[in-house]
Amino acid sequence: MSIHWYTQVQYLKGVGPKLGSILERKGFSTVGELLYNFPRAYEDQRALMSLSHLNPGQVVTFRSHIQNVRSFNLGRTKRKVYEVVVGDATGKVTCKFFRMPYRGYFQRFQPHQLVRISGKVTNYRGTIEFHHPTIDPIQENEEIDDQLIPLYSETDGMTSAKMRRLIQVALTEMETLEKKKADFPNSLPRWLEEKYSLISKKEALTEIHQPALDVAESLGEFRTPSQKRIIFEEFFWLELYLASKKSGFKSQEAPKMKKTSQWNTDFLKTLPFELTQAQKSAFKEIHEDISTTKPMHRMVQGDVGSGKTLVALMSALVTAESGYQVSFMVPTEILAEQHFNNTVKFFKDLPIKVGLLTGKQGVKEKRENLEKIASGEFQICIGTHALMQKDVEYKNLGLVIIDEQHRFGVEQRKELREKGSSPHFLVMTATPIPRTLAMTAYGDLDVSIINELPKGRQAIVTKKVFATKREKVYGFMSDQIKKGRQAYIVYPLVEESEKMDLKDAVSEFEKLKDKFPNIRFGLLHGRMKPKEKEDTMNAFRAHEIDVLVSTTVIEVGVDVPNANLMIIEHTERFGLSQLHQLRGRVGRGTHKSYCVLMLGYAQSDEARLRAEIMEQNSDGFKVAEYDLEMRGAGEFLGTKQSGLPGFKMANLVRDMEILKQARTAAFDVFKNDPQLKKKEHQLLLKELYENHKDIVG
Ligand code: ADP
Ligand code: MG
Repeated sequence: MSIHWYTQVQYLKGVGPKLGSILERKGFSTVGELLYNFPRAYEDQRALMSLSHLNPGQVVTFRSHIQNVRSFNLGRTKRKVYEVVVGDATGKVTCKFFRMPYRGYFQRFQPHQLVRISGKVTNYRGTIEFHHPTIDPIQENEEIDDQLIPLYSETDGMTSAKMRRLIQVALTEMETLEKKKADFPNSLPRWLEEKYSLISKKEALTEIHQPALDVAESLGEFRTPSQKRIIFEEFFWLELYLASKKSGFKSQEAPKMKKTSQWNTDFLKTLPFELTQAQKSAFKEIHEDISTTKPMHRMVQGDVGSGKTLVALMSALVTAESGYQVSFMVPTEILAEQHFNNTVKFFKDLPIKVGLLTGKQGVKEKRENLEKIASGEFQICIGTHALMQKDVEYKNLGLVIIDEQHRFGVEQRKELREKGSSPHFLVMTATPIPRTLAMTAYGDLDVSIINELPKGRQAIVTKKVFATKREKVYGFMSDQIKKGRQAYIVYPLVEESEKMDLKDAVSEFEKLKDKFPNIRFGLLHGRMKPKEKEDTMNAFRAHEIDVLVSTTVIEVGVDVPNANLMIIEHTERFGLSQLHQLRGRVGRGTHKSYCVLMLGYAQSDEARLRAEIMEQNSDGFKVAEYDLEMRGAGEFLGTKQSGLPGFKMANLVRDMEILKQARTAAFDVFKNDPQLKKKEHQLLLKELYENHKDIVG
């Protein structure tokens, strides 16, 4: 039989049903999927020979023999340094390890052993070294015929060498296919390939899996024509989808809200403060959107404390007054309660019925609430993901609001959207996603930015403190409590773990109570019952608790203006965006506020750098940019949470330029052919239908 892109792998020469099912379990059921299993690195046999020509910072992989393994103490300290020297007649290099990965790690290595070394070239006082490279024993006695060998991720039952042979077979088949002048499916239209000087997909795949020596160095930078072609295409499919939505391709109509809202005017009069300019213009943009039938997809980005919730509530008011329901989703129960209580208070003089729906409600209570949602009695429904479940039916959902968006994915957005005929859609986020990234990742969303804090807010004084100075910090805390303020102490873990001697919230809470009998401590963590959490939070709000010892459950949204001190323990265990979120719990009132970042003894340079970035930056956008730089886009957005498609090769940060081209290309397609009627676009249409059922369903 003839093999093509969608053929099951088991029909490839040398595979068969048994290996076929192993491959299928690993996510390679078709020839195409196999070819999209890209090398994670390339082993370069020339590396050792040319070590002195390598540039510091460059990452290389090569094989060599171990010559010597030893350890010694660093200076007068007890810290051990391990050294593995590898090499042969052509060259030698030292690999150093400053922190022992785990006991026994180095016992694996014996002199004369053949290993693969992969690491970043470091220049240490004029000599090339590797610090903390990956060293893997090479099991198989494989003859190496090429100087550049692609390495594939290994899983049990599938070695890199085996994968390499399989892919070579698949590539040969594709060659045959090309000779027959058959097209690759999933391919871009010719005109697009020409316009953006893209090489053919077949050529690209061949080069990636069997690279020529002269491209070896650029492979690591993902800038070869073959890599560009694959990256472009990956982005293009995402952008095509976004462009289809933007251009209104087969979209449904949303309910039209009132152009002027009496309720909103009345509500604003009751507020003890003025809206900021930024709040006003964000609301104006939303109001303009929801008073048309084109479904709104808007994201409001604003730093913690900028007053996003209020903007959301104003939008909810307009919707309710226009006779439609609002579903207001938040990530935690604590936050749902808080929003519910505030909303009821805010709207007490208006003819509005607000409902709360959370996972912890009893069967009877929940049934009653569901009935009130279905009958339309609840005009504004506030809750957790419970609002999204199958049993929730709305009478006439007009607006969906999602607060603190980074906890929700595209998938969940889709589900909620399906609940109404086609409601308007508003997301509020404090994670300031850099513009270019926002445009892609959430490209179907328009963005309003609240770049201004309410008047009278003072910058939060942030300071990193080493654990040795703990007593001083506690002294400062007592002073603040005496002045009538409140504080948070946040820990990364709930229970003491065996491996790490992290002080956990529970045990520290007990110690602090004994140590400071005059301070009222409260404890809050994820393992507590919802009722206990609620009671504790209420007590803290009512100032019956002075210091709340907590895990990160308070990370988002919690608003207690009298609290002005945030102490974060084990700062090294938190990422930048998370630290910024936590810091945002203070500085919400008129009191001067402080954030203390406690650092343990064994923190890495990176952890210290993070603390310093926090000391020097109060602007969430800046912090987010550093975060993005330090972690890369995948992790920044949390691939799972963001619902971003899992790119096989493309990287949102590294490949920003290609992304912009792919975006222009995708939008051009819809400009020229809004309904995708042209013959050359039929493959694109098929791709859209197959992967994005929601837009055509
Ligand atoms: P965010 O959700 O953006 O983190 P919130 O909406 O929770 O911020 O607002 C933080 C606090 O500021 C709340 O107590 C809110 O009532 C208050 N607030 C909102 N807007 C203003 C304003 N324009 N002036 C003064 N205080 C405001
Ligand atoms: Mg908020």
